[in-house]
Formats: sequence, structure tokens, C-alpha cells
Amino acid sequence: MAVDPRNTSRRCPKCGHIAKENRTAQEKFHCIACGHNAHADTVGAVNVLRAGLVRREAAPA
Ligand SMILES: [Zn+2]
Repeated sequence: MAVDPRNTSRRCPKCGHIAKENRTAQEKFHCIACGHNAHADTVGAVNVLRAGLVRREAAPA
């Protein structure tokens, strides 16, 4: 199953804010809207998973 990867590393998993400024470095994610901090790979993985679940219309959260 393919999902659109364009914003997966830019979207805050906590508040949903999308900005390229959220990606402060290759491995770091810092949301400029809510201040959420995470590893960029974790953010990407969470967002890809969520996008896949939405596409399946089986999103539990
Ligand atoms: Zn946020």
C-alpha cells in the first residue's frame, strides 16, 4: 500500500501542524506550534502509519 510521504517528516504527531521548520535537523523534530520534540524517524514512521490507516478507513486513533 502506498501513502503520500510528502509531509510525513514535517507533520507534528501531537498537534498536526505541518511546517518544514519543524524539521530542525536530519534526525530531529521540533514542532514550532506546540513545542513537541521527537526523533525525526519516529515522526515519519508514525505519520506514514497513520496515513495508511486512514486510507484503509480503519484508523483507531
Ligand atoms: Zn505540534
